[in-house]
Parts: sequence; C-alpha cells; structure tokens
Amino acid sequence: MFHRIGARLAAIALACVAAQPVSAQSLLRDTETEAFFQDLAAPLVKAADLPERNVDIALLSTRSINAFVAGGQIIYLHAGLIEKADTAAEVQGVIAHELGHITGGHIIRQGEGARAATNISLLSLLAGIGAVLAGAGDAGMAAMMMGQRAAIGKFLAYSRGEEGSADAAGAAFLSKAGISGRGSLAFFEKLAGMEMRYAVSRDAEIEYIRSHPLTSDRIATLRDVYERDPAWGRPYDVKLQARFERVKAKLIGYLGEPAQTLRQYPPTDLSVAGHYARAYAYHKQALVPQALAETRALIAKAPEDPYFLELEGQILLESGQPDAALAVLARATALTNAQPLIATLYGHALLATENPKHHEEAERVLRAAVARDRYNPFAWRQLGTVYAARGDMPRANLASAEQQVMSGDYLRAVRSARTAQAGLVENSADWLRAQDIEMQARSLLERQEKQNRGRAG
Ligand SMILES: [Zn+2]
Repeated sequence: MFHRIGARLAAIALACVAAQPVSAQSLLRDTETEAFFQDLAAPLVKAADLPERNVDIALLSTRSINAFVAGGQIIYLHAGLIEKADTAAEVQGVIAHELGHITGGHIIRQGEGARAATNISLLSLLAGIGAVLAGAGDAGMAAMMMGQRAAIGKFLAYSRGEEGSADAAGAAFLSKAGISGRGSLAFFEKLAGMEMRYAVSRDAEIEYIRSHPLTSDRIATLRDVYERDPAWGRPYDVKLQARFERVKAKLIGYLGEPAQTLRQYPPTDLSVAGHYARAYAYHKQALVPQALAETRALIAKAPEDPYFLELEGQILLESGQPDAALAVLARATALTNAQPLIATLYGHALLATENPKHHEEAERVLRAAVARDRYNPFAWRQLGTVYAARGDMPRANLASAEQQVMSGDYLRAVRSARTAQAGLVENSADWLRAQDIEMQARSLLERQEKQNRGRAG
C-alpha cells in the first residue's frame, strides 16, 4: 500500500505523513489489498449474477466501522471495519450484504451534512502527496474518479425494509457460493455488542449501525437462515484468512500509531503479519534499518512475493536510496505483469535516480502502468517528466493534460491539450487523444462555471 514520493521529496512526504497520517476521507490504494478484496468478493458477485468485473471494492482510510454502496456498484469499506474484523469471513459477510443493496437497487437516503459528505479525497499516497505538492486538486481528482456520486456513509442510511431485504439477499449469495454465514453472524454480533458497550456517545465509531439500522430481530432472523444452510458447518478458507491477516496488518501498520502497532504486533511475533505491521510502523518513524530488517525477514520467507519486494523498494526509495530500490521494484513489476501501482512506483524510482540511462525503462513501465489503469494521475505526472526529459514536448504536454483533467484542473488541461495537438501528427492516436481531452475538459469547465454561477445566484 501506500506508495509515496521518494528521493528528493522523501523528507516532504514523510513530513506529510507524520503531520496528518491520513485525511478524514481518503481512498487508500494498494495492489495486494485490492487483489484480496477482488478474490473475496468474486464468488459472491457471481452468486449475485452481477457482471464479474463490474463491482469494485474501495477502501477508505476512515477508522470508524462502516461499509456502504455508492456510485452504482462500488462497495466502500472503512479501514476501521477491516481493523476490527477478525476473519476474512466477517468481511465476506459484509460484502454479501452490500451486494444485496446493489441487486435490490436501494438508494441510500442522505441526511444532514450531505453536501460535506461528497468530499472524499484520493490517497494513493503517490497521488495524494503529488496533489498536495501540486497545491491543488485532490478533491477534484477524487470527484472525477468517483463520478461525484460517492458520499460518506455517516450521513446515509438505508430503510429498515431495505436492510431486511439486503440481509436476505446476502444470505442467499453466501449460500449459493457455499460460504458459511458464521462470519456474517459474528460481525453483526460484534457490532451489537459494541453498540451496547459504547452507547450513544461513542456511536461515531460504529457508523455501520447508523447506515444499516440494526434491529433486534435482524440477527435472530439471520442466525435462523444461516444455521439451516448446508454451508453452515463449512470451515473457513485458510488461504483467504492468511491473506486477510496480511492486509489487516499492513493497514494497521500504515494507519496506526507506531507504539500501538508494536504493542499489537510485538517483535516476538515472527508471523508474516507481525513483520508486515512492524515494517510500516518503523518506516513511519523513519527507522530505516529496522524497517528494512522486517522486509528482509519477509523476503526470506518468500523471495518471490511481489508485495514484500514492493515494500522493500518503497522504503529504500523513500529513504533516499532509489538506486538500491531498482532491483526489487523491477522484480516486483515483472512478477505482477506491470501491475499499475507497482509499475508506477518502479517508474518513480527510475526517475528519482536522476540518471538519464534509466529514462527509456521509466517510459516503458509508466506507459504499461497507464495502459492498464488510465486513472492514475501520479503515473501521468511521472510520464510527463520522462517525455520532457527526453525532449518529447508534445507527449509531455499530452501527459500533463491527462493528469490535469483528472485533477480537476480543466483550464490548464485545455491549454496543455491544445499545445500537445500543435506538435503531434494530425489524426495520429495521440493527436486524437489530445483532442478528446480538450473537448472533455472544455465541457467540464463549462459545467463547473454553471455550478459556480448557480451557487452565487
Ligand atoms: Zn445494509
């Protein structure tokens, strides 16, 4: 997770991270975590008869417990939900229920503060800090990425009827996928227990109950349905559970106070999760040798695990050793077939060496990254830098236009796209792309101006 800016900018990046670990509503991006969520959801998405790649699971940095659906088919999970869950099966239970809201076509009702709720910012730390350094636009970028429809669960609630129907649908999906309802039940019982303990004053921590009203008979009904299902007694998937423990440890290490993380994962804990959590905790404190000792312990356990290599590369890059980061990041990129976030990190390390010899490779990997995931403003920014360094100004302008339109900087996007077109071969693919961006940015600019006028009047 948590690709950050390296080399010359390492000090700034670490300062940002230390000063404000994560803003209230940030989207966290991590390859391993996203792959895990996809695999967790896949059998349930199939059971729900939804198109396979059509449901996305997004992780928000918020540490309260919540999950909700917004923007059509995106399930948002709060980091707090992952932190408080004990099993992959609990998270799977939540996903099954949220899928029930999707198939039921339930529209979350907005309550107080709905306008403030649309302010989710993007934090692929990569992109997040890039945007901070650029001085603007991360809210606009996030709004672009989420189609301006995502909102914060805190202010939203389903009706009780919808809750019952999502429960029933979720149970049917679990059953069809052959997954025991024990995880789902454990999660709801945990929430009910927390609600009793925390009472009203602390209920901000368990926003899930506000967005998904928990009535007394809901759990009883679910238990009844689950216990009768043939899958009830089925053991949990051991592999998914191991992956869950890794993802949870990373998240805690990344978001948590290092001292707290080290209490939860003390040095005597030699599990993968233990090393993972401590690597982040030490890295957060700029204890580079300790952080690297933890990643090396991980790599010793599994030398070809791309995520262990990614983390080691990231720590090296962010501690000002981009040359040392190249080998592990090249390997991680190759092992994941240029997975976009990892390839972008590698491209960043190549550029951070400030060695022109690496420009060609940087261009190659960054192009591969944006080919697989266009919505990666940080990769576009990097790619623009490579093109400019290589004297290819039309493509540098085109890359800037891509990044600016994603960041909500429409005026500059129009200008960059026009400049790019002037230098590109007419009707070539890049020229056509520049033209598209110009038109897109113009119409977004008009819409923005219209909205501003509406607000002023
Ligand atoms: Zn619900």
